[in-house]
Amino acid sequence: MRKPLIAGNWKMHGSTASAIELADTLGSCRHLFEGADMVVFPPAVYIQHVAEQLVKNNIAVGGQTVSEHAKGAYTGEISAGMLKDLGCSYVLVGHSERRALYVETSQSVAEKFKAAQENKLTPILCVGESLLERQQDKTFAVINSQIAAVIDLVGLEAVCNGVVAYEPVWAIGTGQVASPEQAQEVHATIRKQLGEGGSTTRLLYGGSVKSSNAAALFSQPDIDGGLVGGASLEAEEFLKIAQLTL
Ligand code: PEP
Repeated sequence: MRKPLIAGNWKMHGSTASAIELADTLGSCRHLFEGADMVVFPPAVYIQHVAEQLVKNNIAVGGQTVSEHAKGAYTGEISAGMLKDLGCSYVLVGHSERRALYVETSQSVAEKFKAAQENKLTPILCVGESLLERQQDKTFAVINSQIAAVIDLVGLEAVCNGVVAYEPVWAIGTGQVASPEQAQEVHATIRKQLGEGGSTTRLLYGGSVKSSNAAALFSQPDIDGGLVGGASLEAEEFLKIAQLTL
C-alpha cells in the first residue's frame, strides 16, 4: 500500500512573513490529512523558517533544486548536504522550468538525483513531455528516456526509492490539466518501466491541480498524490487538495 503524498512547489513566491503564515496554517491543520504525507518546497531562503514551523508537525520541507556537486566554486548553488542541514528531507530534481530555463540536461538531473540520495534526501524526479512532443506522439519516448538517464547512473533500485512526478509541460501553470485517463496512462507506463520495485514507488501527477480536478486524478490506480504549484500558495485550497488524496 502506497501512502499518498501531496507536495507544494512554492516556486519564487512570497516573503518571510507570508512563508511563515502559510506554514503556520498548514501545521495547525495537520490533523485534517493524517493519512497522507505532505512536503512543501519554499524558496531556498525561507526553508529554515518554514522547517522550524513544519517539521514538528510532521510536514516535510524540501529544496526546489540542488547542485550535483558536494562543494566548491559554484556561485549561487546549494548542495544536498546544505539542504539537509537546513532541515530538508526532499528535493525536486528536473522540474521542467529548470530543464527549460536553466538548461538542465537529463544527465545533470541524474547527477542531482544521486547527490540527493547520497545525502539522505528523497528526490522527486520530475518528468514530462512538451505539447509538441505529445502532438508528435513522443510522450512515452520522452518520459522513458528522462527516467532511463537516472536509472543508468544510479540503478533501478535507487530510482524506485525516490518519487517520480509526471508533469506534462503543457499543463504546468496553464490551467490546462491532463485528463485523469491521460495521466493514468502515463503513470502506468512509468510504473511498468520501474519493474517490480516500482510497485511501492510513489508516482505524483503535477500540472494545474486544483481542488476541482484533484479527486478524479487521485482516484486513478497509479496516481499516489500530486505536485501542486500555484494552488499550493493558498492554504485553504492546498488543504482541500491534500484531503482529496485520502
Ligand atoms: C509545478 O510547478 O510543478 C506545477 C505543477 O505548477 P502548477 O500546479 O501551477 O501547474
